[in-house]
Amino acid sequence: MPTLNTVFEETLNNCKSLIPKNIYKFSQKSNDGRTKEYSISSDDFKKSLRNMYSDFNAFRNTFIKHLEGQKALISAFASTPVSFADAWNMKADQLDPYDVQALTKSGGHFQLNQIPNGMGNSGSGLYQSGYAKGLVKSFGTKITKGFRHKTGGVYEEDSLSEMGIFTYATPNNSAGMMEYRFAEQLSNGIKTPLIYIITQWFKYPVEFEKNNEWIYMTGAAKVVGNQDHPHKPIQLQLISKDEAIKHLNNLIETFRSPTEIRIRPQLPESLRLGWSYTKIKGDTSKRKALIDYACSKHMRCPGEKCNHVRFSELSSKNIHIGHRISQNWNSQNLGVVDIHHPYNLYLSCNICNISLQDRYPTEIDSLISEIGTIGDWLMDDLLEDK
Ligand SMILES: [Zn+2]
Repeated sequence: MPTLNTVFEETLNNCKSLIPKNIYKFSQKSNDGRTKEYSISSDDFKKSLRNMYSDFNAFRNTFIKHLEGQKALISAFASTPVSFADAWNMKADQLDPYDVQALTKSGGHFQLNQIPNGMGNSGSGLYQSGYAKGLVKSFGTKITKGFRHKTGGVYEEDSLSEMGIFTYATPNNSAGMMEYRFAEQLSNGIKTPLIYIITQWFKYPVEFEKNNEWIYMTGAAKVVGNQDHPHKPIQLQLISKDEAIKHLNNLIETFRSPTEIRIRPQLPESLRLGWSYTKIKGDTSKRKALIDYACSKHMRCPGEKCNHVRFSELSSKNIHIGHRISQNWNSQNLGVVDIHHPYNLYLSCNICNISLQDRYPTEIDSLISEIGTIGDWLMDDLLEDK
């Protein structure tokens, strides 16, 4: 089972392997529209990685706080992807109440700018006026929280595709570039995407509110894709508030686990539904695939009654699908858990299955977690080569 530490090391190594061997030269437009020449050495890139990520424990503690901050902002302010994309695609500098009413109906959420007079006093950098565009860090950290965007065609390099994939231009410095690649590699390694907050702002005149002349709209987005060069833009996909919160909860739990972790990414719906208890019970080929997998990996029953018999020593009819949280407990606590979810299912022998049936949680639950639930196997390699 991987530990967060090893995943983190792997992430850093993968980032290092993307660093060009020779000095990287390019030209890029700065905020004032002028084109500038840049050159970044291989050592610069490495140094940036070291500066940000060499102290794993320090990073982890800060990162957990950062994730909690993201969760709080997204919970309060995130719009639906549809509404956010509609507003974006208007390419308008200014909205009026009619626009806002329409966008709100499809799940848009708006707020006024948070402080009237510049930065540094209060409020989030995501929502301050007089602070045009670009990356916003979680205050006091090197971690990017999200992106500000003023619509109206000022920044041509930022785009939103019809599929809701948002491409955000790359910073011109090595630290910014490596942070993008780190975000992609880490998302891959822990099988849970990092989440960014995107804000767009519009002029919105309100009588008798002369300091509040802007309104902001917030979207949540997850990292998608894996770019192979530091300077490539990052791709983010707009997602619903619910999905963002699920990923954030997952990330927080993962980063909080002190030692060995069983990383449980959100199962795709096709697997959650397609490999639920009832689907496995009713489909002999799925049941067989699970048993073959357990046998081929020399797995043993997690129960104690059989003294952890190998599945390969049992006939197929003596292998059972158990519920970690029991069906009996579920019947008295309806709606609390998704009882037939593959992460709640495991294989055991018939003897242990009967003895564990009605108990929750059982004393062998941590062993089940170590051997892997059916959901874990699906997310590992059970479905490979099929
Ligand atoms: Zn057993």
